[in-house]
Amino acid sequence: MTFEIQSVQAIEILDSRGRPTLMVTTTLADGTTAEAGVPSGASTGTREAVELRDGDPTRFGGAGVLQAVGHVNDDINAGLAGRTWTDLAEVDQAMRDLDGTPTKARLGANAIIGTSMALARALALSASTPLYEWLPGIGQPRRLPVPCFNVLNGGAHAPNPLDFQEFMVCPIGASSMKEAVRAGAEVYQALRKRLVAGGHATGLGDEGGFAPNLAEPEEVLALIVSAIEDAGYPTGRSGVAIALDPAASEFHKNGVYVVNGANLSSADMIARYSEMVDRFPIWSIEDGLGESDSAGWKQLTATLGGQIQLVGDDNFCTNPAIITAAIADGIANAALIKVNQIGTVSETLEAMRICHDAGYGQMVSHRSGETPDTFIADLAVATGCGQIKTGAPARGERVAKYNRLIQIEAQRPDLAYGLGG
Ligand code: PGA
Ligand code: ZN
Repeated sequence: MTFEIQSVQAIEILDSRGRPTLMVTTTLADGTTAEAGVPSGASTGTREAVELRDGDPTRFGGAGVLQAVGHVNDDINAGLAGRTWTDLAEVDQAMRDLDGTPTKARLGANAIIGTSMALARALALSASTPLYEWLPGIGQPRRLPVPCFNVLNGGAHAPNPLDFQEFMVCPIGASSMKEAVRAGAEVYQALRKRLVAGGHATGLGDEGGFAPNLAEPEEVLALIVSAIEDAGYPTGRSGVAIALDPAASEFHKNGVYVVNGANLSSADMIARYSEMVDRFPIWSIEDGLGESDSAGWKQLTATLGGQIQLVGDDNFCTNPAIITAAIADGIANAALIKVNQIGTVSETLEAMRICHDAGYGQMVSHRSGETPDTFIADLAVATGCGQIKTGAPARGERVAKYNRLIQIEAQRPDLAYGLGG
């Protein structure tokens, strides 16, 4: 089946942090129109595809995206419109060729991913197929993923003294998506009560988790375990387990990890994580070490890789070539999957397929700067990856994704829920 693109248009809108991003609208020759909102990170890997920002200090402090908008409306529209295409991958490749750089630096990965997502959605609509069914799979059956709710924020996502960025609760043992979302929301409310009782502020970080004035990761873990128990759930994989994203690149300075004022080596960090895993129901750690600390990552994987999931984010950047090399090197056993880190839907699927083929897990992820776009919910279901993180069970741009998953479950009650694999 072939299709023709009539036009691709973008405008500058705001993301959940009040910073500019793109909304891209793709229209097919058959009249089908679909939009996509482009996500944006704060704790970014250095090898991510380039998010093009204007750098004009008179607008949004330099964060405007009018150049990227212009590239959609001019170069990309001119390159794609009025031609006949066979599939999304062909269009994604054409945009990469049009860009001409390995990092999508000329047109901007934000311009390209927005177009790619909006086109996928338009093609699904045109085929009268839900996006989660239209998106190609990666060799595992479609399923409803375990939602990992980021209930407590630190690092680059909150102005508190906590160095670790994300503390997530994951209802692995839930019987369905609906029950998993309920568990996440109930634990979140129980945590709020615990924080209030402890005299802590209940202001929120960028991903909707609480951002209290706590600095010691173990103190936070103990609080979260209490909140899970307060909400009446078993802790661990049979109920609600904990996942961490310390985003360690952010506190890895001059070869040293600085956690609550203590200077720690890679070996110290690994020992610290081992203790945490023994004491608390942690099943997954993402970016436990910095993106430049390959030797540390190998040691971390050798030490804890048989026990828990170790997810590469800053060091992998959803990049098929980087992930292929990391797999050969024995680094991590899972990858975080962020569409804008690589910049096309096709390359995102390729990265996930490579992980699947190597027995690596895949966790689909939002960014700290989001829009109400729910593309990643459909992506997680389509690929059957079994896990998604998209923030707290609070704030519109985060719950939009969880609500979309509930909607998909209502449409497809035959789909299994859970990690799978
Ligand atoms: P980011 O954070 O979107 O700010 O990069 C998310 C993450 O580190 O996983
Ligand atoms: Zn991360």
